[in-house]
Amino acid sequence: MVATILAPPEHKTVLVVEDNVWSRKLLETRLEIHGFRSVTSTDGEAALEIAREQRPDLILMDIQLPGISGIEAIRRLKRDERTRAIPIIAVTAFALSSDKTKILNSGCDAYVSKPIDSTALMGLIERYTR
Ligand code: MN
Repeated sequence: MVATILAPPEHKTVLVVEDNVWSRKLLETRLEIHGFRSVTSTDGEAALEIAREQRPDLILMDIQLPGISGIEAIRRLKRDERTRAIPIIAVTAFALSSDKTKILNSGCDAYVSKPIDSTALMGLIERYTR
């Protein structure tokens, strides 16, 4: 009998940028359940550094952050050739259409509003990391 050696599951890495501890933990747990590895950052500046050093497969970016905003962080990530190709999903509590426009113009690949629909978000993450 020949043993079948299964390849280890491909763990994609998601960088979660979220300053709220509960939102962050919820996202980390969801990602783990879906087989993703997550790295976290509580602010945009640190996220830029982590993105450059670790090259995650995707970034989930909260918009309201201490220090530089998620919008500014997305702009910088998309301007930097080292991080430009990483898909970014913006996560925001903003509901105003002017904010939506600003967020979409920042260069993010997709956008979700809080409260987060986890099923929809995981679907998006899977699509963008495929
Ligand atoms: Mn926040």
